Amino acid sequence: MSEAPSSGTPYPYDAPASQALFDRAAAVTPGGVNSPVRAFRAVGGTPRFMVSGTGPYLTDADGREYVDLVCSWGPMILGHSHPDVIAAVQDAVSRGTSFGTPGEGEVALAEEMVDRIEPLEQVRLVSSGTEATMSAIRLARGFTRRTKVIKFAGCYHGHVDSLLAAAGSGVATFALPDTPGVTGAQAGDTIVLPYNDLESVHEAFHRHPGEIACVITEASPGNMGVVPPRPGFNEGLRDACHKNGALYVSDEVMTGFRTSRAGWYGVDGVRPDLMTFGKVMGGGFPAAAFGGRADVMAHLAPAGPVYQAGTLSGNPIATAAGLAQLRLLDEAAYAKVDAVSRTVQTLVTEALTKEGVAHRLQNASNMFSVFFTDREVRNYEDAKRQESFRFTAFFHSMLARGVYLPPSSFESWFVSTAHDEQAVQRIADALPAAARAAAEATAE
Ligand code: PLP
Repeated sequence: MSEAPSSGTPYPYDAPASQALFDRAAAVTPGGVNSPVRAFRAVGGTPRFMVSGTGPYLTDADGREYVDLVCSWGPMILGHSHPDVIAAVQDAVSRGTSFGTPGEGEVALAEEMVDRIEPLEQVRLVSSGTEATMSAIRLARGFTRRTKVIKFAGCYHGHVDSLLAAAGSGVATFALPDTPGVTGAQAGDTIVLPYNDLESVHEAFHRHPGEIACVITEASPGNMGVVPPRPGFNEGLRDACHKNGALYVSDEVMTGFRTSRAGWYGVDGVRPDLMTFGKVMGGGFPAAAFGGRADVMAHLAPAGPVYQAGTLSGNPIATAAGLAQLRLLDEAAYAKVDAVSRTVQTLVTEALTKEGVAHRLQNASNMFSVFFTDREVRNYEDAKRQESFRFTAFFHSMLARGVYLPPSSFESWFVSTAHDEQAVQRIADALPAAARAAAEATAE
């Protein structure tokens, strides 16, 4: 490892080995990355190419170690290379990598999920969160025989054509107004409303009687930064859906099996008709799912007429990793993640307050993010009003001191059971300089 950040000397600003890989990547891959936010465009500088992960740490191509507060955007809730997950993967891989037939692993994973979440009566496994939400929307349309979908500005449900309008995550990071390639017809069936605003939902149902198939919402949004639902919001959505013959679709790709044993449903208890999952349930492999009411799921092929399929759906290695991870996630594990999250949040607030930086830390269970504003952030418009230039300075200072944050102010931070005292101490050591950098930053 080069110059340890805990010695007080920050890593050099440049990262030659990562830069060389980024240059190679740019020649063969658009923008040099396989998912836009990874390119660091919102914060500038060289994206770090990681070569290994152990517990709470990542090591990059230059041999520098970072405390990881991204955790692969949520999945790595036990930290990297957890021995039980690795053992389950090795065991599965020794028996083959893909059969294209049903297998016991996918049944066991579905049983574990259904056991944890009461409204989840049946699930169908897929390979990405995008596939899960795309399929759930198709099923909702097929079931209700209606076309329109309500979504909320700042919520991200993957890169599904009809759900990209006013989306969060990378779409927010790059401030994309619309995505070329999405047809008017696809966008025209999407009604985008402000988050946390039930009145606008009632109005939309009033304006489009008998046309709305479903409302899809992040169970608790983490893709415009962390913006939890106000008390009664999710209940209000469910009630409005049911009053108007629409389905309530709760996207738990990010919150599922992270915010509690039963995801956000375990926190607010609002019963969805359909739910979507990804991230934690795959243990770091491509596994995702959608599911919910058995009478709705019965419309899915081959039981019913709504088609949906996947060559690698229920892949034996992905399901083995996911199942091993879920089985380790008991109440004690969640208590640990919650406690680490609270500690880090407190440290961040203390450091920023000491430097007089206007900020707001918002959390939803153990998911959290910092907004550089002194006002409560209730929706995407509020989130956009923050002073993102302060985040950029804060981000680079943390990176130089060995702490890897999401490279955008519109993303949640994630911790794991592996974030021990030593890792937290490294975050604490990095924060004073980062808070100072945020205080001194100026808008260009
Ligand atoms: N839904 C939510 C709430 C997400 O956060 C994401 C990804 O971040 C997705 C859907 C899409 O999942 P994937 O990236 O696996 O396609």
